[in-house]
Amino acid sequence: MKIIMLGAPGAGKGTQAKKIAEKYGIPHISTGDIFRANIKGGTELGMKAKAYMDQGQLVPDDVTIGMLLDRISEADCEKGYVLDGFPRTIPQAESLTNALNERGEKMDYAVNVDVPDEAIVTRMSGRRACLACGATYHIVFNAPKTEGVCDTCGEKLVLRDDDKPETVQKRLTVYHDQTQPLIDYYQQAGILVTVDGTKDLNEVFKDITVVLGE
Ligand code: ADP
Ligand code: AMP
Repeated sequence: MKIIMLGAPGAGKGTQAKKIAEKYGIPHISTGDIFRANIKGGTELGMKAKAYMDQGQLVPDDVTIGMLLDRISEADCEKGYVLDGFPRTIPQAESLTNALNERGEKMDYAVNVDVPDEAIVTRMSGRRACLACGATYHIVFNAPKTEGVCDTCGEKLVLRDDDKPETVQKRLTVYHDQTQPLIDYYQQAGILVTVDGTKDLNEVFKDITVVLGE
């Protein structure tokens, strides 16, 4: 099963993608996590991406598309995957569609997690991330067992630089300009599913599994 998660930054794409990956036994591929791992590792790709990420801008398509297409060619992607944070532009979506067409494949679902902008800033200011393993928490809605410590790997949790309110506003503007048009793109492709992302995260997951199947 091949799934795309759509939605504003902070809508809950990563939270749901992790649950989908676990339930259906497919890899969770987050382009944001790949960039952050590269920043942490001090790679050239990481340094290039950081300049854009810190400004709330998108990393250019010429860097992002190749990276994602390489990742989905790896052996663990044979049975499918859940994409979180890609595509974010129409050219990214078209490149993905074309690359899959060439292999006689197609995406199965684009799951749009719908949350209004007003709720996003609260979500983002309370998000805490583990930069070691990619786990995410919320200080109120999804708190770790021990404050400030990752349940999965024990590393210290951080507020991402790009989750500060001024950057979140910028990211929302970029989302509406460049990423929201993908909702129409996947609607026209006949694979769009929209879920109400303002519900409790377990309710949102239930709604998604009704569509994807048990
Ligand atoms: P995205 O991957 O779309 O940027 P995340 O999955 O990281 O978003 O979620 C953003 C923040 O909101 C996190 O702190 C997460 O724990 C929290 N969150 C996710 N889903 C919900 C929900 N349904 N209700 C409340 N908080 C949520
Ligand atoms: P995320 O972890 O999905 O919130 O992404 C964090 C940041 O990484 C974004 O604000 C962008 O700067 C960058 N990024 C992640 N995925 C993409 C993508 N598909 N295209 C361009 N930039 C991306």
